[in-house]
Amino acid sequence: MLDLAIIGGGPAGLTAGLYATRGGLKNVVMYEKGLPGGQITQSSEIENYPGIKEVVTGMELMEPWPEQCMRFGLKHEMAEVKRVSKEGETFKVLLADGNVVDAKSVIVCTGSTPKRAGVKGEEEFYGRGVSNCATCDGFFYKDKEVAVLGGGDTALEEALYLANICSKVYLIHRRDTFRAAPSTVEKVKNNPKISLILNSTVKEIYGDASGVNGVLVENKSGEVIDLKVPGIFIFVGMNVNNEVLKQEDGSFLCDVNEWGEVVVDISMRTSVEGLYAAGDIRIEAPKQVVCAAGDGATAALQVVAKSL
Ligand code: FAD
Ligand code: NAP
Repeated sequence: MLDLAIIGGGPAGLTAGLYATRGGLKNVVMYEKGLPGGQITQSSEIENYPGIKEVVTGMELMEPWPEQCMRFGLKHEMAEVKRVSKEGETFKVLLADGNVVDAKSVIVCTGSTPKRAGVKGEEEFYGRGVSNCATCDGFFYKDKEVAVLGGGDTALEEALYLANICSKVYLIHRRDTFRAAPSTVEKVKNNPKISLILNSTVKEIYGDASGVNGVLVENKSGEVIDLKVPGIFIFVGMNVNNEVLKQEDGSFLCDVNEWGEVVVDISMRTSVEGLYAAGDIRIEAPKQVVCAAGDGATAALQVVAKSL
């Protein structure tokens, strides 16, 4: 029986593990299906994590976290969790290999993943010219022209990153105002390598066996332009990773809102005793590393207090 199972090893999960084990909990396992670090490892530029004065990549930011967070006994198991359920007072954590682990408390920190735009050609050319990760794939387009779709912080920041590598970046957005922070919008507007295509949508991504050859973009008046680019980066928001909370009958283990975000109180408690949610998965998450880490610490301190 685990004292605590943590699902997900991003900033929220790692910090929860640090605070739980440093707070005296002995048997704490963090289940992470990939390498610990979370979605921020895909980012090319972080300048808002307090204490880190330099501009760093997501990889650089997260690199020291596992060692520090596991120093007090947190165990990491590289495994995917399929479902968390509760029988009496005990949580049952079902792993992808079919094993079931019992736990007294659970903190769910599974974060979010990039949404698909639902554009023709997006799936067909995914990984062959369609990407959700400028850090991973930007270099393939060195000195070439690329397109970026979206108008949020991610799209604009990644467009700036790509502008450093590529000869030109077409930023396609369906409105003429942006969700991104005003300072980022300003940087984009002032970047001579970024060309804004506003009030426009991607009609089709086309190509051949070798990959993407271009993107058809339609504006509000129905005019279509053909951007002959070999790559398009799609940043149209994030999906909440709440599948682990879905029960066999399709209901959720705890309360979620209309977007599937987990309802928590100020202490990250869900509607189920002993179950907590932290980071991007929770309601009203600011979706920032510092906030996810704070959530993880808050939830873990609740579990520690309960064990005293
Ligand atoms: P995540 O980081 O999403 O981590 C969740 C982890 O859970 C993942 O590692 C995943 O593999 C794992 N997982 C999911 N499901 C399962 C399962 N079933 N079983 C096992 N493991 C599972 N924030 C900032 O503060 N500053 C920035 O500059 C910034 N830039 C960003 C740039 C980009 C491109 C992106 C995508 C995000 C950016 N953010 C930024 C937001 C920030 O990354 C997130 O708010 C933060 O990572 C959320 O942390 P989390 O721990 O809640 O979730
Ligand atoms: P987001 O803020 O939800 O923005 C998504 C963008 O994609 C919006 O501009 C949206 O247009 C557009 N869009 C959505 N669906 C589309 C579709 N099918 N076709 C075309 N366009 C579509 O998502 P995000 O940029 O990934 O950011 C997610 C969260 O992480 C945000 O809370 C953000 O603040 C945070 N984040 C923060 C930082 C930072 O602080 N430095 C960096 C990255 C991310 P509309 O605007 O018209 O809806």
